[in-house]
Amino acid sequence: MNMLQQSRNQVLVQIETACIQAGREADAVQLLAVSKTQPSSVLAEMYQAGQRAFGENYLQEALEKITALKELEIEWHFIGHVQRNKTKALAENFAWVHGVDRLIIAERLSNQRGDNQSALNICIQVNIDGQDTKDGCQPEEVAELVAQISQLPNVRLRGLMVIPAPNNPQAFADAKVLFDAVKVQHAHPEDWDTLSMGMSGDMTEAIAAGSTMVRVGTALFGARPKKDV
Ligand SMILES: *Cc1c(COP(=O)(O)O)cnc(C)c1O
Repeated sequence: MNMLQQSRNQVLVQIETACIQAGREADAVQLLAVSKTQPSSVLAEMYQAGQRAFGENYLQEALEKITALKELEIEWHFIGHVQRNKTKALAENFAWVHGVDRLIIAERLSNQRGDNQSALNICIQVNIDGQDTKDGCQPEEVAELVAQISQLPNVRLRGLMVIPAPNNPQAFADAKVLFDAVKVQHAHPEDWDTLSMGMSGDMTEAIAAGSTMVRVGTALFGARPKKDV
């Protein structure tokens, strides 16, 4: 077994253990492999180990990998900040976009999704713990965004994405409460199934609080090379 297989197996065991400890089904949580800064060859190796869902943060870097790996059946997730002028490339090349925090972004993604493509899966990013950042909408904006975005034709609104500050388990609990509360606003409530939260350092706590998808980079691939941008 190679290193990537080993680390993936370890992460899968950690996820399963956290599920069981929390009284949840062992397969209740999906693993998204966060592959930013990793070269295509490493993604291909992780794919050989069985991984299908990969998350990328930087559009240009992601598009190069999507082209290089187009023979593989990878499900591509964009987990970076969504800028207005990037929506077309996102709509055309990804299966999921996690960082939607305004109606205009969702509208553009819906309009720009190809006619021959299935609906684009999206999550609303929420600034759940009041961080000083421009990423993510405010918790009190979520209900109305769900009502509006869930009516758009070419996106499928799957849930919420949060990136709380480290060591703040209360933020995960708050996200779960919000996730459950706003479901009634959804035009197609059966689509509302994804709570994207938890990373390498806090996936166990996130799963205990109700995460359905953890986004894991370091624990799978090792420490990232420093990015010189
Ligand atoms: C980089 C990143 C991750 C993965 O972080 P690790 O600590 O390496 O697991 C998860 N989510 C987002 C949004 C990220 O940018």
